[in-house]
Amino acid sequence: MLQSGHIFIVSAASGTGKTTLVSRLSTHQPDIRISISHTTRAPREGEQNGVHYHFVSRTEFEEMIAGNMFIEHANVYGNYYGTSLKAVESLTQQGFNVILEIDVQGAEQMRRLLPEATSIFILPPSMTELTERLKNRGTDSEDVIAHRLKKSREEIEQSLLFDYVIVNQELTQAEQDLLAIIRSVGLRAQAQSQTITRILTGE
Ligand code: 5GP
Repeated sequence: MLQSGHIFIVSAASGTGKTTLVSRLSTHQPDIRISISHTTRAPREGEQNGVHYHFVSRTEFEEMIAGNMFIEHANVYGNYYGTSLKAVESLTQQGFNVILEIDVQGAEQMRRLLPEATSIFILPPSMTELTERLKNRGTDSEDVIAHRLKKSREEIEQSLLFDYVIVNQELTQAEQDLLAIIRSVGLRAQAQSQTITRILTGE
């Protein structure tokens, strides 16, 4: 039987470059998949349904909550976001390592529900750099930026609750750090029980 994959929770304050980091890693590593969340927010330019998110209506999302279809869900900036249990299970059963790129509220729920998952928080190099990155995105007003920064500070304060912390100073280094964490989890003795049995039985 195929060894099942592990679940990695990746969170960060907005503007930290988490999405770029995680998608780069999954492009380079075929055994790593990003879980596609459901959301009620409208697609941004270039985003495709079923690729970046499953875009659904509020009613559909609420029906999914009622049907217990999410492992976790949260309201982020007025929109719902949730991780489907079935989708994650199907990927781990196929042997993929699965990254859940979720906010800190979702991460907290996951840590409680699935303590065996590994949680990772991505930090910006500094608050000054984070402010610059948010401004340079050019998509948000001063008020929105100020609100996001306040929220970011609160989220960063929670980073000590995570298993690992990576500073995203330089993308290539951050990608290597993230990969090192994922590989070390796969090398744990417990994760290799089937390999040990195979060696002992000579199969
Ligand atoms: P965005 O709208 O910029 O794509 O995402 C906003 C925030 O929602 C990000 O912090 C992102 O990680 C988080 N998010 C995306 N999918 C999920 C999910 O399934 N559950 C939770 N709790 N947060 C999510």
